[in-house]
Amino acid sequence: MAAEIQPKALTRKPVLLSKVEGSQDVVSMAAIVPKEDGVISVSEDRTVRVWLKRESGQYWPSIYHAMPCKYFGMFILYCVFEFILSEDYNKMTPVKSYQAHQGRVMMILFVLEMEWVLSTGQDKQFTWHCSESGQRLGGYRTSAGACGLQFDVETRHVFIGDHSGQVTILKLEQENCSLVTTFKGHTGGVTALCWDPVQRVLFSGSSDHSIIMWDIGGRKGTAIELQGHNDKVQCLSYAPHTRQLISCGADGGIVIWNMDVERQETPEWLDSDSCQKCDQPFFWNFKQMWDSKKIGLRQHHCRKCGKAVCGKCSSKRSSIPLMGFEFEVRVCDSCHESITDEERAPTATFHDSKHNIVHVHFDATRGWLLTSGTDKIIKVRLRRLL
Ligand SMILES: [Zn+2]
Ligand SMILES: [Zn+2]
Repeated sequence: MAAEIQPKALTRKPVLLSKVEGSQDVVSMAAIVPKEDGVISVSEDRTVRVWLKRESGQYWPSIYHAMPCKYFGMFILYCVFEFILSEDYNKMTPVKSYQAHQGRVMMILFVLEMEWVLSTGQDKQFTWHCSESGQRLGGYRTSAGACGLQFDVETRHVFIGDHSGQVTILKLEQENCSLVTTFKGHTGGVTALCWDPVQRVLFSGSSDHSIIMWDIGGRKGTAIELQGHNDKVQCLSYAPHTRQLISCGADGGIVIWNMDVERQETPEWLDSDSCQKCDQPFFWNFKQMWDSKKIGLRQHHCRKCGKAVCGKCSSKRSSIPLMGFEFEVRVCDSCHESITDEERAPTATFHDSKHNIVHVHFDATRGWLLTSGTDKIIKVRLRRLL
């Protein structure tokens, strides 16, 4: 019986393979070199480094390049740089730079199929350039600086998540773009986006600690919340063939979500002047309080049914993993009774990376998970599937 309760795609604990130490500053972006024991890092001190694993088992910097910083009037003009790495990873040749933003570049995405370089900056601009000619093709002003950037090659839709908490969807043409729609679901800024082109689902992580899974291709219009972090969600990564979402928090927590599980939307919170269980008036319902000579109560909400209830009628807590609540939340007494042990079985696993993660990269073919932290260390973990 216990085996049936366990969701089948739960993973074993990721094993720490190696640490890359010796960065002068915090690594804001890093990636595992495909088919190699190597890591490319971009650090806050504006250096790009390639680290290769030596026979000693340690990662050593093989090459590095310091990026220039140009001053332009009152603005610091930040650029997107492109390099070609030699076959043996011992040579890095700057190819071109794109003068893309009047402000720090926040996100870069290279779309090989279109030969486009997409980027967002602190100047609230989203721009795209042709990687062949280096020419700027177009731009769009977002409502705030954007930390999330994803692209769907098939339909040429770009997803931009910004600090205001909004996700903007644009349709890109060669030299212009049109606004498709915007999503608003977070109470804090969007910190990361992740697109699954197979299921056509967009994940957004936020400083409000939550992740929202937006059903885009299914046209059901559902938005499912995932609550598994106690701090800002910093980065997201998706493994399509195992259908696992990896989310990292500012507190160092790594959560691996089983996305094979059918989850439900959380209910709308109902409004009522009195508890929808025991009929006691809430404190703003002065008329009923006067009539019944009772002192008003505070309104709470059951996370499962959405009913407005008093504290007495919602004294118990429960996790509701099938609604995305991996932690215990307030539920009314009747909902508490109705939730079975099977329904309480976690649909995610929780791990401690032991550093404050600023960036994550997942190499799905080898099951390697790279995290870089504010401690200037890059950690590579092996995440065995099943
Ligand atoms: Zn009540
Ligand atoms: Zn309830």
